[in-house]
Amino acid sequence: MSNSPSAIRVAIIGGGLAGAALLRGLLRYPHLTIDMYEPRPTFRDEGPGLAFTSRAQYILAAIDPELEYCLDRAGAVLTTTETRVAAGPHVGKEIEINGFGEGCKKNVSRQAFLAEMLDCVPSHMMHPGTRIAFVTELPSAQGLLLTFADGSTKKYDVVIGADGTHGFTRQLVLGSDGSLVQPHSTGFWGLPIKVPLQRAQQLMGTQSLDPSNPRHVGWIGDGTTIIYDLLDNGNEVQIIVFGKEDDIEEEDGLSEPSWAKLFTPDEFREAFSSNRVPVCQGTIDLILSVYTVQVAALCLLEHQPTPTYVTENICLIGDSAHSMLPFQGASISLSIEEALLLSTLLGRLPSRAAIPAALRAFDQVCRPRAEQATRLSAETGLLITGRAPGIGLNADLLQQHLRHKFEFLLNVDIEEHRAAAISIMDQLLGVETSWP
Ligand SMILES: Cc1cc2nc3c(=O)[nH]c(=O)nc-3n(C[C@H](O)[C@H](O)[C@H](O)COP(=O)(O)OP(=O)(O)OC[C@H]3O[C@@H](n4cnc5c(N)ncnc54)[C@H](O)[C@@H]3O)c2cc1C
Repeated sequence: MSNSPSAIRVAIIGGGLAGAALLRGLLRYPHLTIDMYEPRPTFRDEGPGLAFTSRAQYILAAIDPELEYCLDRAGAVLTTTETRVAAGPHVGKEIEINGFGEGCKKNVSRQAFLAEMLDCVPSHMMHPGTRIAFVTELPSAQGLLLTFADGSTKKYDVVIGADGTHGFTRQLVLGSDGSLVQPHSTGFWGLPIKVPLQRAQQLMGTQSLDPSNPRHVGWIGDGTTIIYDLLDNGNEVQIIVFGKEDDIEEEDGLSEPSWAKLFTPDEFREAFSSNRVPVCQGTIDLILSVYTVQVAALCLLEHQPTPTYVTENICLIGDSAHSMLPFQGASISLSIEEALLLSTLLGRLPSRAAIPAALRAFDQVCRPRAEQATRLSAETGLLITGRAPGIGLNADLLQQHLRHKFEFLLNVDIEEHRAAAISIMDQLLGVETSWP
């Protein structure tokens, strides 16, 4: 990596999956110097596992061919997806969704995947345990000054905000308008747990959790949904239950919305009372064997659409740009699309002066897709919790509405988007495009 005075200095704020994927993409360009900052003492991501479709795996490989192997080294399990109705008159009926079927996804533990992604990154680029106090614009287009909590400073030409839903970089781009900066409640909550395979099999049965036939199973209930699959080479089971509250409180858009939805064990069981499918009841028993006193689910938040993800030299990616409901794996699919596009554009920078054009091109291509994903993910949430108006738990209508819902992400022509972004950047710079 270049240390020459002409090198373009990139700071990535936030070391989650979006930041790490971007870092991997930028590593191949010797005219960039990169630092990634993370306030936590280590790069950790304890969140639920992630599912990568074959298209998402292709995008990972386009960022860096080695990333596909990172999935395997992280114990990813190739699964077949199955979605069924868990309550109401059509209980047990399967819902077929285009593109989701046999061997369609690799499920991986995010902590294991993040560790693999960062394994080969030179340590001088990674700065865990480093809190940024503020970011200041330097005069005369000299870039940005990062001031750290210990008072030290460092200059950069471009800053990437990858600090997630509750990070501070969104404010750098969108200013003080709380309704744009703060995420808002969606009324959905989610509770992920991970347990060893044998323990899960005791309560959920061996047939539903068979490592020789790994499946990603979703049960659509009355206001809830239950999803389970295998991770860590089939040694662990991940369960995520989601629910939809029927009434949500008005928010003022200024204060932070609630992070947690609390249930007593009885309230939690009651939320699933119309779901009598034995494996689902076993799943609830399993969750209540972990949460014996109080069940704490995460409130799922969403940002409202914003006029831009960029300034002249700051760019938001991942959840800091667009927190959305996580259904259909939209969040992570978009994060890696963004990592590919942004690394391609920054990799083509002929000089510092071209940074605003690269960021504007990124915004023009990526923001509309994220807005579409946010909308579709919200619609999917209502469908898979049986709460879509006029559809409920009717299997035929669910099938009709879910069948094509995922195609926008599954069939993305990422090369077309990459070419479009490059062409916009070149037009803004007034140069002729030659790509690839
Ligand atoms: C219950 C649940 C289930 C989900 N399931 C799925 C799923 O199945 N599929 C899917 O695609 N997505 C899912 N998601 C969403 C997914 O977790 C996020 O989209 C993804 O983690 C976003 O990655 P990110 O790197 O943008 O942000 P994050 O993973 O939040 O990373 C942000 C990083 O920035 C750091 N940071 C925070 N503040 C600062 C600061 N001030 N300065 C510097 N760094 C900072 C954080 O410590 C963190 O390391 C789920 C989310 C939830 C809550």
